[in-house]
Amino acid sequence: MIYFDYSATTPVDERVLEDYVKNTQMFIGNSNSEHVLGREASFAIKQATNGIKHMMNLNNEELIFTSGATEANNLALIGYALKHKNEGMHLIMSPYEHSSVVSSFSYLEKQGFEVDVLSVTDDGLIDLDELSDLLREDTILVSIALVSSEVGYVQNPKKIKEVISKKSSAVLHSDVTQAIGKTRVYFPAIDLATFSAHKFYGLKGIGCLIRKESVELQPLLYGGHSLSPYRPGTPPLPLILSVYKALSLVCKTFDQDVRYVETLKTYLVEQLSKFYQVIINSNENAVPHIVNFSFMGLDAKELQRKLSEKGIYLSTQSACTRNRTFSPLIYAITKNEERAMSSLRLSLSKRSKVSEIDQFIQVLKEVTT
Ligand code: PMP
Repeated sequence: MIYFDYSATTPVDERVLEDYVKNTQMFIGNSNSEHVLGREASFAIKQATNGIKHMMNLNNEELIFTSGATEANNLALIGYALKHKNEGMHLIMSPYEHSSVVSSFSYLEKQGFEVDVLSVTDDGLIDLDELSDLLREDTILVSIALVSSEVGYVQNPKKIKEVISKKSSAVLHSDVTQAIGKTRVYFPAIDLATFSAHKFYGLKGIGCLIRKESVELQPLLYGGHSLSPYRPGTPPLPLILSVYKALSLVCKTFDQDVRYVETLKTYLVEQLSKFYQVIINSNENAVPHIVNFSFMGLDAKELQRKLSEKGIYLSTQSACTRNRTFSPLIYAITKNEERAMSSLRLSLSKRSKVSEIDQFIQVLKEVTT
């Protein structure tokens, strides 16, 4: 098996899994309980939360643990918009957003909010002049994914926030799900950040909304007192502790891992470029972990299926948009229908190997000739 779909999800790190099992057995109390077992659980969660905040250089932020980035995006966007609708009903988003962001905005449009979508640009970076032009007195929120999941473009939240602050008091939401472990995140510029742990060798089913304390939301769920007024229910202690563990492991080897993936990407692109039918869609503004390419003349789904039959796994677009072969984003970037019909996302990680790339290239030759 050759797994090239690390941006869809990563296999859990064994050390994270061991920790998860150990903590599940060790902390039997509900952290909302008043007794000693409850207090022990609560203390463990507090320590893990402080550890995560320390690694991310966060000070005046609350970590709201959710079931994943999908829930975190819903809470951030819908929760903020509903709470602040009296201040304005205009929202702006980038064209590179994940379906959980796009769907949250669609819901808000049905509630009467107006949504402007920034244009796709040639270099993949947000056009700051266009953003400035779109900002209005009634703009309350701007949403820009730090790293786009389909093509890997990395945005600059500091510059984006500067532009926003010059013209309005809108908050900046950034989905950093594809960024953690791949590029450094400048959190001071981001008012609401969201991520899922399973993208960096953590467990599936846990994510987080990082909320600047000054940013108020309307809760979307209601229940008893818990860690946060924005997320009722019994806190999933072993999952929360597992985020800390996974993040610690990522931080330990961050620089060397990114450098390694850069060398892999360079090699992969070299090899892919030997096929006259291949056009690389990800440019130099993308993280090295995501290589989007079009194999001209072949339907992306068909090629994905053929590779899958040979034990090679990669995505068309992103895993969350799997029912479409045609990629609207690649079409918007390239204005070329064929490129949009034939685009695949290959995602690498620190676990990928040169030998896997060689095998993939060999199989690609076999299934395309
Ligand atoms: N945002 C981005 C950028 C993603 O890549 C994903 C996962 N595909 C999500 C949000 C949603 O994460 P989850 O499925 O864990 O809720």
